[in-house]
Amino acid sequence: MLNLFRRLLLTEGPELFYLTLEPKYHRISFTMPKLNIRNFCIISHIDHGKSTLADRFLEITGTISKDKIEPQYLDRLPLEKERGITIKLQPVTMNYKLEGNDYILNLIDTPGHVDFSYEVSRSLVAVEGAILLVDASQGIQAQTLANFHLAQQQGLKVIPAINKVDLPHLDLDSVKKELSELTGVSSEDIIGISAKTGHGVQELLDKVIKKVPAPEIIVDQPLSALIFDSYFDEFRGVVAFVRIFGGSVRTNQKIKLIKTDTESIALNVGIFRPDLVDKESLSAGEIGYIVTGLKDIDKCRVGDTVSINGQEDKALSGYKEPQPMVFAGIYPKDGSRQEKLRKALDKLKLNDASLIFEPEDSSALGFGFRVGFLGLLHLDITMERLKREYSLDLVITAPSVSYKIFQKNSFKIIKSPSSFPDPSYIEKIEEPWVRIDIVSPQECFGLLMEFLDSLGRVKFVSLKYIGASQKSKRALIHYEAPLSLLLVDFYDKIKGLSKGYASYSYEFLDYRLADVVRLDILVAGDIVDQLATIAYRDRAYISGRRIVKKLKEVLPRQMFEIKVQAAIGGKILASERISALRKDVTAKLYGGDVSRKNKLLKKQKKGKKKLMQFGKINIPPEAYMAIIVK
Ligand code: GDP
Ligand code: MG
Repeated sequence: MLNLFRRLLLTEGPELFYLTLEPKYHRISFTMPKLNIRNFCIISHIDHGKSTLADRFLEITGTISKDKIEPQYLDRLPLEKERGITIKLQPVTMNYKLEGNDYILNLIDTPGHVDFSYEVSRSLVAVEGAILLVDASQGIQAQTLANFHLAQQQGLKVIPAINKVDLPHLDLDSVKKELSELTGVSSEDIIGISAKTGHGVQELLDKVIKKVPAPEIIVDQPLSALIFDSYFDEFRGVVAFVRIFGGSVRTNQKIKLIKTDTESIALNVGIFRPDLVDKESLSAGEIGYIVTGLKDIDKCRVGDTVSINGQEDKALSGYKEPQPMVFAGIYPKDGSRQEKLRKALDKLKLNDASLIFEPEDSSALGFGFRVGFLGLLHLDITMERLKREYSLDLVITAPSVSYKIFQKNSFKIIKSPSSFPDPSYIEKIEEPWVRIDIVSPQECFGLLMEFLDSLGRVKFVSLKYIGASQKSKRALIHYEAPLSLLLVDFYDKIKGLSKGYASYSYEFLDYRLADVVRLDILVAGDIVDQLATIAYRDRAYISGRRIVKKLKEVLPRQMFEIKVQAAIGGKILASERISALRKDVTAKLYGGDVSRKNKLLKKQKKGKKKLMQFGKINIPPEAYMAIIVK
């Protein structure tokens, strides 16, 4: 009965109003759609043309004039332009007229790579619909599936579209069929477009307006704005990217961040064009920014809710914290700059909410941080951003996964091999496992599955054909595997074996039992903490041999001979010698005075011994990464 009262449908002209009885306040409020707004994002596998499609939308709507548009206009970081990939979500507000009505279109362009899927999931919460783009020459790929499932979980209206129809030799019918099977949208309803030439793009935009629901807002509600991204402005503090779910906010109004219980003033509010353009106010249904003036970075976090001071209700549910599972040590090359690195990481975290870090120190590298990443591309991009945006010169250690260590009465998660406890106190160890989804043409199944089986420890789950009616069959192959296997050259192998045709994505499953040991590396008799790795017990010997061989190649020769050894719990498994740079101390002697010669050589030996005892061997930065042996 109550439900009946709760959702009384009133119809008035073409607009729909919902009458909602809110038991908490015993007040009646109206829910209504904001008919002139559409919030949507573009999702796809990497390189299927999201950012190029956004370019065409910017042109059609006159947001950016044609002569000003550079390809992938919304990729705003120099690094994105250089690498040709989107790393950050990027909102933009466009105005558009359809059938005599004016619309405000808020688009969010998203990254495709699995390492940046937190950017995608945060974007999805801010919108009502998603264009699911598929490259006509590639068909559905692993991250098409992963991103589609994210949109589905969020309850979004998904509009499938096929891109790059300008390319030759396409089997469009098959791709339509695939996409129709996946999304449940009938083949005739799936548009083929070319983001490059603009073919079909206008039709797609019209479809977005007709199919994506207008945002629902509760009338007469105080401000409730979800922060889905942010960055730090040296002068104006944290700039929060928000989706307004209820109420409104004006410039100079007193605001409150509910979760961190922080008050401030909205110095400016406005929208993305995609540069910031100030407005007098932002209201429910809109996507825009609030300049918070907050200099204390910890007070303004992604996932928090902005409200008006004194009117705040409960916080919106926000986001599930991402779970980084790949960790590496990052150290300033000049050991004294830990504070500068900390500040840089704090600021970068504002713009990359998935980053986590904690201080760490190393006998070899000094003070630094152990940083968590969502994958290897994320690690690579983060290092680049720290170097470029914060002018830091850094050393990074070999990445490893986290392990759960169970001891007699305790349990801990270890993020660094060097903090692995003494094995005699360990009861069991668990490592993270992932579910790997590989999409591959039939011709490559054999090679790919052979490779996966050769890794050992992986578990085949299933193989399912995609669009079974097609001429060239493709399938989705599921595996379960330890995440650590993906840290070596997994990507290159999968791409190489399939000549570039297979793609994969992965998702954390759980922690499972692992028989692993800490493999120490000794250089000139000393353990170098940051060169330690975790190895499967039955492969430790092979790993040890490979690592010392590799180190022999990368460590510079010294005035004396040095030994490089791999050991488990003090037991040496493998050893290599790096011969001394020999200075010919006997060169000045002429003739055959053997005793004089021997005397000089003896003296030299003594000197070298002294050097070995007192001199520290400098490990070059490359050595830390070189130990990831393939
Ligand atoms: P994203 O990773 O999904 O954002 O993809 P991009 O927009 O960066 O495009 C990836 C590549 O595909 C670029 O080289 C684009 O020029 C190209 N591309 C995008 N759309 C089309 C299209 O409709 N036709 C053709 N031939 N190429 C396209
Ligand atoms: Mg892109």
